[in-house]
Amino acid sequence: MKKKDLFLGGGILFAACVLFLVMNLMQYVQAKENGQKENQEKQVVIKVDGEVYGRYALDEDQVIEVQEGDFYNRIRIEDGKAYMEEADCPDGYCEEQGKINNRTQTIVCLPHKLVVEIEEVENSDDSQNEKEHLPDTISK
Ligand SMILES: [Zn+2]
Repeated sequence: MKKKDLFLGGGILFAACVLFLVMNLMQYVQAKENGQKENQEKQVVIKVDGEVYGRYALDEDQVIEVQEGDFYNRIRIEDGKAYMEEADCPDGYCEEQGKINNRTQTIVCLPHKLVVEIEEVENSDDSQNEKEHLPDTISK
């Protein structure tokens, strides 16, 4: 009888441990998907003609001036949001695209082939973490 009790007790403990681990794992995965990990940082990525022009922290107020050839774009980062403050493109459409602060949002200046995007990166020195976030389309 004693052996059986021990076995039952151990089994329940084991099941509880597994359940605990699975729940932790699920929370971790959910947090990762929602981008709520504490050491995650949002970056504004500016691309010109498909090439990365620069990366800027979204939580830092700053102005980025892009002067390429005969065109000019000024992107302002303010209060955790990025927007096109001024551009000398003919359509001016990029200035009307509003403020972005989410990785699903972009500002596109078609005449200048300029794209402003938001990227979420691990806030650490390990460059491998950054690579992990780039192939978003592959992991889905
Ligand atoms: Zn434009």
